[in-house]
Amino acid sequence: MASGRLFDESMYRFDEAQPSWWEASASGPKPKGKPLTGSQSCDVAIIGGGYTGISAALHLTRDFNVDVRVLEAGHFGWGASGRNGGFATMGGTFLSAEKQIARFGLEETRQYFQHQNEAVELVRSLGQDEKINFQPQGDAELVVAEKQAHFEAMKRTAEIERDALGIDTFMISKEEFAEKYYDAPHQHGAMAQRPAFGLHPLRYAQGLAAAAERHGAKLHPGSEVTSWRKEIGHHVLETSSGRLTAKKVIVACNGFMPEHLHSGLKGRAMPLQSLIVVTRPLTDDELAAHNWQTECTAINSRNVYFYYRMLPDKRLLLGGRADTTGTLAAAKQTANDLTNYIGQLWPHWKGIEIEYSWRGFVCFTSEFHPSIGRMPEDLSVYFGFGYHGNGVNNATWTGRELARWIVQGNSPDEPRPLHLPPQFHGMTYKIPFAGLRRFYANVAVGWYRMKDRLDGIR
Ligand SMILES: Cc1cc2nc3c(=O)[nH]c(=O)nc-3n(C[C@H](O)[C@H](O)[C@H](O)COP(=O)(O)OP(=O)(O)OC[C@H]3O[C@@H](n4cnc5c(N)ncnc54)[C@H](O)[C@@H]3O)c2cc1C
Repeated sequence: MASGRLFDESMYRFDEAQPSWWEASASGPKPKGKPLTGSQSCDVAIIGGGYTGISAALHLTRDFNVDVRVLEAGHFGWGASGRNGGFATMGGTFLSAEKQIARFGLEETRQYFQHQNEAVELVRSLGQDEKINFQPQGDAELVVAEKQAHFEAMKRTAEIERDALGIDTFMISKEEFAEKYYDAPHQHGAMAQRPAFGLHPLRYAQGLAAAAERHGAKLHPGSEVTSWRKEIGHHVLETSSGRLTAKKVIVACNGFMPEHLHSGLKGRAMPLQSLIVVTRPLTDDELAAHNWQTECTAINSRNVYFYYRMLPDKRLLLGGRADTTGTLAAAKQTANDLTNYIGQLWPHWKGIEIEYSWRGFVCFTSEFHPSIGRMPEDLSVYFGFGYHGNGVNNATWTGRELARWIVQGNSPDEPRPLHLPPQFHGMTYKIPFAGLRRFYANVAVGWYRMKDRLDGIR
């Protein structure tokens, strides 16, 4: 294991799968690739086998017949792509629609959301075209108001999204919500957004990887890149058992960014932990106690929010922000806290047994939007990361856009993809005193938790 990692070592055990419900219920085609051995070469080498890397490999091979290899330290989908909540929803940035309009302009923000829409539909169509049984569920994302005042504030957001940006955003009253979605003391109605749906994230990652392999990509699990150098114009990537020479490299590691491999990657990504708990299947009586009707994905309206959804076999999945150390003891504590929150949010389910809990990294950036580009000092290195907890669609879309950029040559000689909206432009600023990133995260999360408490939310 390389030194200098930001979080506890237990977060980087590439040879161990997370004890997740997704790992327990994965089925369908899996990639067959083996670890890299000997001395190999290709046109494009991809570091990281999550949605970004796999989607780039799939599009490069299927659409453009490029010679591609993917090096993944664990198994395909080992990272956040096999561990997430499975929300295929719009987002990708920490900036509200209003802030985006102020920073980038109305037309640019409209275009950004068009890409978000397209990205959700891309995931859906990949599932259909590549025959991936990822169990789609629901047809909207619900932002559930925890207070009446939040519901009122959401009306303005919905108006901007619908009228200025053309997004399919609508409000649901408390009464309608109780009747058609679920009933609980904390709900005061909701704002809903389409397109959105839920899926099985690991089946999606593995199905996508199997498809990329079918289309000609060579996939290498168990192949952590431990060193990277340039030799006579070519990149040389070393793993413990092999060596890969390539003309171009895509870095697709998001929150698990191997900063030690390349000076251009240092201090750019801000990984934050998210942790998920999954209950045993709920009985019909338990579901009826909260009149649970919905399969939609949901988040609540607090600053440090929870995300949740009912899975196909009636298990409740609930996720939220975890600690900033990454130790196993802290993870256990966060899982207990989330379990207690289930009882607070849905009193009839207080004390429900939790059968699975696991964690992983989402990735923020200093500018609060995704970072897609080429290294200014070496234009043969491409990257995409920083999806702000919204990578199911954004990482998939980014992989496709990187593939197109490489082959079609848009924005030639440019480190920034000028053909995309400015929210995606190029390498994000280095975080000052990057060694303090966990401290900054602690302060920020603490600040938002305090704001929630001042707002009367526990
Ligand atoms: C708990 C949790 C819940 C989430 N929920 C949602 C959600 O509901 N909806 C949503 O849209 N997004 C969600 N996200 C975010 C989403 O999962 C990510 O944005 C997305 O998966 C990122 O994909 P990626 O391919 O860029 O990175 P990852 O899937 O993290 O893949 C990066 C890969 O790089 C590999 N790697 C790192 N270093 C090396 C190296 N040196 N050599 C080789 N390989 C290396 C890692 O092993 C890893 O597999 C969630 C994330 C977490 C952790």
